[in-house]
Amino acid sequence: MKAYTLDFAARRGEFRELAEPVRQSGQVLLRVAAGGVCGTDRELAAFHIGEPPAGEPFLVLGHEACAQVVEADRMGPLQVGDWVAPMVRHACAARCPFCLRGRVDQCNSGGYRDSGIVGRHGYFRQYVAEDPTHLIRVPAALAEFAVLLEPLSVVEKAVARALQLAAAPAGQALVVGAGPIGCLTALVLTQRGIPVTVHSMEPPDHPRVQWLKRIGVLYNQPVKADLAFEAAGVGAAAELAIKSLAPNGVCAILGAREAQVEMPFRTMILENQTVFGSVNADRASWEVAVTDLARTDRGLLETFVERRSFADLPRSLVETAPQAAKLVHILH
Ligand SMILES: [Zn+2]
Ligand SMILES: [Zn+2]
Repeated sequence: MKAYTLDFAARRGEFRELAEPVRQSGQVLLRVAAGGVCGTDRELAAFHIGEPPAGEPFLVLGHEACAQVVEADRMGPLQVGDWVAPMVRHACAARCPFCLRGRVDQCNSGGYRDSGIVGRHGYFRQYVAEDPTHLIRVPAALAEFAVLLEPLSVVEKAVARALQLAAAPAGQALVVGAGPIGCLTALVLTQRGIPVTVHSMEPPDHPRVQWLKRIGVLYNQPVKADLAFEAAGVGAAAELAIKSLAPNGVCAILGAREAQVEMPFRTMILENQTVFGSVNADRASWEVAVTDLARTDRGLLETFVERRSFADLPRSLVETAPQAAKLVHILH
């Protein structure tokens, strides 16, 4: 079977022929239908982050996937024909208290493995044998958009925490960044009935900005935000999000790298503001993601994705600002 791999010793990304996996009892065999590409994949492909599984020279890339069960135990929780999306994070070997109680997204030993990112092969391969406990069942009608569930689960976790920390019903939200995470954050907030302004660098006629306008979002308008989300990957975006907070405001940092920025500590104190970081997602956030994806207009989802062939993956890994919010590669 065909797989796309990163050789960390040679610092080279390439397609490889791998043996098809053999399903063990308790596992299901998955035929991977499609995989999404995000900024994390581009950082991996540039060898800025990531690590292959212990003792192996290469990592199979891909952490946003949708697959169909092609072999399963007769009495197992998943049956042949079921559609699934794989959860990315796997528990640490140290069995930390968070992993032990199923909150691998909060692992505190640092020994967790993220499929297709660190310590575990990902899903840019045509078949995978997987344990059902790491899979989210997806309604067949949603299968063609199920690659969006992984980034959406990350958004759901952050939005739920922000709403939990907010002192009062949120009147206004700001999202900084109009990439896939920014657009999905805006979508989820509008689905919660919260007015959203997105701030980003794309011109107003850009397809992603047009998409945001279709869901009723304002673009590049000044705002005092009860909820703010940094989803642009740079420190300046985080600074803008924090400085845009209203009194009692809550800000989630989702992508910014280390940066020297000015923090308004005095305002944060006097206005009871909260800033938090968030990564990955728990099972509950995945389930909410399935619900929210199911109630999103299909026409909107269709304009959110651009489908490409598997052979075209290397191009997507160097494309820094695609027109579509999400590039999706078809493996089967
Ligand atoms: Zn991703
Ligand atoms: Zn852990």
